[in-house]
Amino acid sequence: MSTSPIVITAALTGPIAMKADNPALPITPEEFAIAAEQCYKAGAAIVHLHIRDEKGAPTVNPKRVKECLDAIHARVPEVLTQLSTGGFDPYEERAKIVEVRPRMASLNPCTMSFGMGEFRNPPKEMRKLAARMRELGVKPELEIYDYGHLGVCLSLLKEGLLAEPLQFSIVLGVPGGAAATPQNLVNMVATLPTGATWQVVAVGRLNLELTTIAVAMGGNARTGLEDTLYLRKGVLADNASLVARLVQVCKGLERPIATPAEAAKLLHLPELKEA
Ligand code: ZN
Repeated sequence: MSTSPIVITAALTGPIAMKADNPALPITPEEFAIAAEQCYKAGAAIVHLHIRDEKGAPTVNPKRVKECLDAIHARVPEVLTQLSTGGFDPYEERAKIVEVRPRMASLNPCTMSFGMGEFRNPPKEMRKLAARMRELGVKPELEIYDYGHLGVCLSLLKEGLLAEPLQFSIVLGVPGGAAATPQNLVNMVATLPTGATWQVVAVGRLNLELTTIAVAMGGNARTGLEDTLYLRKGVLADNASLVARLVQVCKGLERPIATPAEAAKLLHLPELKEA
């Protein structure tokens, strides 16, 4: 049984749900900052972010992205920020958000169906983004949605576009990716390279169950309104309650909770290069 500290990430909002689906979804820079602070106080070391515009729609506008990061850093300087480069905007625009220099950003290795959406991650452009992130010192959070995605990440490593240790999110439950089952989680973890760090991103109904299995297996853990809008059937969640529930699971399994400073060491975050 693992007793190593666990890094908890709060995914405050995703690219799809709106306030009409859950009023606790942060939209404005201030709402992001408040949610980040509440999650940090509850035990999260990292906040994973998809930024929204004034109307609540997903945006990769660099000015708005920076406003949100600045608001979070001003309110809770300790927390580590991780920007998503995912979503459904044109790839070139999504890729630009790493110029805002978060400590981490997602890197999605493959194009896939994402429910009824088309999640484009073209091989050449994706490699350019990986190279740029390495140049800037922004750690990639490698999101693997299916077995083949890991192979592409290992190719990037061979090509010198990634630095070890690799940090993976095993995303399960997206229609178009691998299903949210314990078998898929166990099998995908078994294929990761030695020394890699990982967490499961369990989307939807089985969020709590699969995350609990991952915590028991020694992985890191993520929760938040991006992954599930509900605490349980019929009960809407907010980000801090989801983090608090996950912390209880970790404590029950005797995993101490990593502070952001400990998380930066455990994930081997590089120093950010000067602008
Ligand atoms: Zn995300």
